[in-house]
Amino acid sequence: MTRVWRNWGRTVTARPAAVARPESVDEVAALVRFARGEGRTLKAVGAGHSFTAIAAADDLQIDLGALSGIRGIRGSRITFGAGTRLYDVAPLLRPHGLALENMGDIDRQTVAGATSTGTHGTGARFGGLATRIVGAELITGEGRPLTVSDTENAELLPAVQLGLGGLGILTTLTIDCVDAFLLHAVERPMGFDEVLDDVDAQMSATDHVEFYWWPHTERVMMKANTRLPGGAERRPVGAVADWVEERLLSNGVLAAKCAVGHAIPALTPAINRLATRVYGDREYVDHSHEVFTAPRDVRFREMEYALPREAVPSALRELRRAIDEAGWRIEFPVEVRVAAADDTWLSTAYGRDSGYIAVHRSVREDPTAYFAAAERIFLAHDGRPHWGKMHSLGRAELEARYPRFGDFLAVRDRLDPERMFTNPYLARVLDGERVE
Ligand SMILES: Cc1cc2nc3c(=O)[nH]c(=O)nc-3n(C[C@H](O)[C@H](O)[C@H](O)COP(=O)(O)OP(=O)(O)OC[C@H]3O[C@@H](n4cnc5c(N)ncnc54)[C@H](O)[C@@H]3O)c2cc1C
Repeated sequence: MTRVWRNWGRTVTARPAAVARPESVDEVAALVRFARGEGRTLKAVGAGHSFTAIAAADDLQIDLGALSGIRGIRGSRITFGAGTRLYDVAPLLRPHGLALENMGDIDRQTVAGATSTGTHGTGARFGGLATRIVGAELITGEGRPLTVSDTENAELLPAVQLGLGGLGILTTLTIDCVDAFLLHAVERPMGFDEVLDDVDAQMSATDHVEFYWWPHTERVMMKANTRLPGGAERRPVGAVADWVEERLLSNGVLAAKCAVGHAIPALTPAINRLATRVYGDREYVDHSHEVFTAPRDVRFREMEYALPREAVPSALRELRRAIDEAGWRIEFPVEVRVAAADDTWLSTAYGRDSGYIAVHRSVREDPTAYFAAAERIFLAHDGRPHWGKMHSLGRAELEARYPRFGDFLAVRDRLDPERMFTNPYLARVLDGERVE
């Protein structure tokens, strides 16, 4: 019986011919050699949290869940099995007094999946996970182990840090961690224009700033996190308050409002206005991973683009006009984050300080028209799509947006000359085929 695989966002279904769950690097190498000998393709899957079909296997699927945990420690440089889930990383690092420098909104992903798509959080002075990858071990398309680090095959590192799953099967990743720290979180509502008129200052006022704008309202919810030393006093929100805020208010209310908005779309603006009143306005201090991430119980679809940071206000105002003019009722907030310029070749923040705008729709709603309009606006503002979130670009458009795209393709030719690790998504974005 064919096993059906679906991603978290329910945007992709695949029917891999077989699923392999290797328990050692040797088994991974043997699988690659077997697949190569048979002329098959082999696609690694992480936690299936990409909204694009980047992880979809149309032939053999390989799941590295068994290759997890700490594999090596050298000072702040910690080597993890590629299948380690981010929610396991904090407890694994705690005994060593270390933490990840920055994190995105959730911790369900695998280390390999997160870095391979450019997963990022927010922070004007900080980059995404890929920028902290200082080493990797992978099995290439020829079934050979390859070590890449800043001292060994160093020329490959800026490609392997964010390889889209197209360069080999990663077996370990070495992350340069930082001393464990706490975050002082301040969440409060602000006005849409109040934030956008002064967005640069707002987004760099503290270490990690992001905001959510509720369509059909004048309000944004601002979240500003300041880094504190690990020895600072914790002032967590408390289990009950946390449950009320995260599960009931944030996720529970969101689920209920999506249901009501789906049944009676005309009510969405009023529900969004209500949401701006129940969310936010709290302050707490907790371990970094507790503050960076939160559960996401309501299933949604997402598109996110990175823009030159200065383009954010104009793009967001255009998006607002587009929503108003089209008359859509958008039940999910628009999220805005920032990242520092980096030098990872396919990073959405390559070479430029970036601002991210993410649009979402509940799985109950058809996102096509809204996302298409948002994408037109983001592209007109020189945007680059998140590799793991919905977008329509192919190789030609992407090549024009990434100065080192050709170098990345050359590394792929070297490490996977026979395209063992391809799938229709990679064929589209890297080879220019329209086969999805
Ligand atoms: C609810 C939700 C919240 C999210 N929040 C954020 C956020 O805050 N910031 C952000 O940037 N993104 C966010 N994302 C997107 C998510 O971080 C990325 O899509 C990420 O890639 C998912 O990791 P995964 O382990 O599920 O990888 P998958 O989606 O399973 O795979 C992604 C890619 O990694 C490759 N891969 C996996 N394992 C290996 C391996 N061992 N060797 C080689 N290649 C491998 C796959 O082949 C594929 O190409 C979110 C997604 C969801 C669903």
